[in-house]
Amino acid sequence: MRRPAKLAALAILSFALLLPPAMAEQSFPARVEEAAAAFAEKPGIVPDMTADQRKRLVVFLVGNVIFTLAHEFGHAVISEFGLPVLGREEDAADNFATLTLVQIGGAFAHQVVVDAAQGLLIMSREETSSTDPVKFYGEHGLGPQRAAQIICLVYGSDPTAFTALADRARLPHDRREGCVADFQQMSDTWRQLLAPNLGRAGASLWQRLFRRSRETSSAMVMPVAYGEAPEALKPIRSFLVRIGLLETVRDYAVQNFAFRSGIRLEASACGEPNAHWDAQERRLVLCYELVAAMVPAAVEAIRMPPEAVPARP
Ligand SMILES: [Zn+2]
Repeated sequence: MRRPAKLAALAILSFALLLPPAMAEQSFPARVEEAAAAFAEKPGIVPDMTADQRKRLVVFLVGNVIFTLAHEFGHAVISEFGLPVLGREEDAADNFATLTLVQIGGAFAHQVVVDAAQGLLIMSREETSSTDPVKFYGEHGLGPQRAAQIICLVYGSDPTAFTALADRARLPHDRREGCVADFQQMSDTWRQLLAPNLGRAGASLWQRLFRRSRETSSAMVMPVAYGEAPEALKPIRSFLVRIGLLETVRDYAVQNFAFRSGIRLEASACGEPNAHWDAQERRLVLCYELVAAMVPAAVEAIRMPPEAVPARP
């Protein structure tokens, strides 16, 4: 989609504001510029684009990876804190990711959820065009349903602020009130479930989430590793390293949630486009192949006119 450069710059600035201080000092906008320029030097990775489109592409990719990691952290929170799950855990993980980003607030976090919905729609097109009934037995909802649920919760969090988004996404008017109620119920449920794990009575949930001292070294609680990548995936590996994506998400997770030490956060070549939380090994893995699979969707998304985003379910 062709977005005004000003909007992309605002999104980048907002992301810098939600970074932990150490990362913010390293200038996130500069890292986005660098990552976008690096794509320009690798003509095989992204097609010919303007510098602004490349920047927007990087923001879209960053957003989709952040949503994916937030979803996997949803699984981690469920198993690490022993939370009960009523309904499908995959739905719970999507709701956790959406609520977390809505709670962070700001232009970039909102952009992340819209981009994530868009990414799901584009990447699930093949899945939904097939007539194979097996897809209905999948552990995840269908892409358009997942995207619609994200939009519904975002709208429900603030109907005034997100009316235009709901209109673009064709969120039916007679469903909108239900989205507000769903958001409230979902938000209350997570609050209740997380509260006993977050300590200090009296403070609001989100203040309690921040109770960890900033001096606590995130790297000690949750080490991060970027595994070796085969030749074809090296540009993806360097993209993640340049942006410092795993470290950024890790620092946010450690500062906001009382995870016990020993969880590892890894990016690696897995042989398939995937991301997963391994509850036994306490390991969250992002596969380079998944990020590579997001690139064509990102290219498509940034070429859509803004009024068509998110593409309608
Ligand atoms: Zn999942």
